[in-house]
Amino acid sequence: MNIILLGPPGAGKGTQAQFLVEALGMVQLSTGDMLRDAKDSGTEMGKLVADVMSRGDLVTDEIVIGLIKEKLDGEKGAGFIFDGFPRTLAQADALGKLLNDCDIKLDSVIEIQVDDKALIKRIVGRSTCGGCGQVYHDETKPWPSDGKCSSCGSTDVKRRADDNEESLKQRLMEYYKKTSPLLGYYFAKGNLVSIDGLLSMNEVRDSLKKVINKE
Ligand code: AMP
Repeated sequence: MNIILLGPPGAGKGTQAQFLVEALGMVQLSTGDMLRDAKDSGTEMGKLVADVMSRGDLVTDEIVIGLIKEKLDGEKGAGFIFDGFPRTLAQADALGKLLNDCDIKLDSVIEIQVDDKALIKRIVGRSTCGGCGQVYHDETKPWPSDGKCSSCGSTDVKRRADDNEESLKQRLMEYYKKTSPLLGYYFAKGNLVSIDGLLSMNEVRDSLKKVINKE
């Protein structure tokens, strides 16, 4: 089972991908996480993308396609979850070719639908655990009162540099200009399924599982 999670920043792609990794043993391929890792470890590529990311712009197709290409040769688990990739039509075409070359079938492209006002609220209170990547939110899933992550016990709370209103506006603009055409692209290919991302986290997870189990 190989799926793409599509949706604007803050739709819950990362949170839902984590559920699927834990519940089904799928492998999450998040280009955002890969780029943040490169930035944090100070690689040349990380330095190159740091400013672009903090402004909320997209990094070049060439860089992210290269990152995905490397990972497709690795462990497949129970299938791949593409999270935050593809984000442009060129990336979608490149992914199609890569999957074809590796003999991997794309089963579904799942759009997580949310409205823009809800997105801003979600993103502005967001944090993640530096130990295991668990996602928290000041209102809906606050960091445990003992200060320790409920999954791994780490006390390292991380807030993303681009989770502020200014770069969020730019990230949303990039989404509508460059990524939303992928909805039509995958609809035409017959892969697109849309689910309501405004439901509770557990309800969204159940909708996702239903889509996956039908495959
Ligand atoms: P994300 O964690 O998916 O919200 O990604 C954070 C940032 O990383 C984005 O705002 C972009 O600057 C960059 N990024 C992540 N994935 C891609 C992609 N597929 N194409 C271009 N830029 C990306």
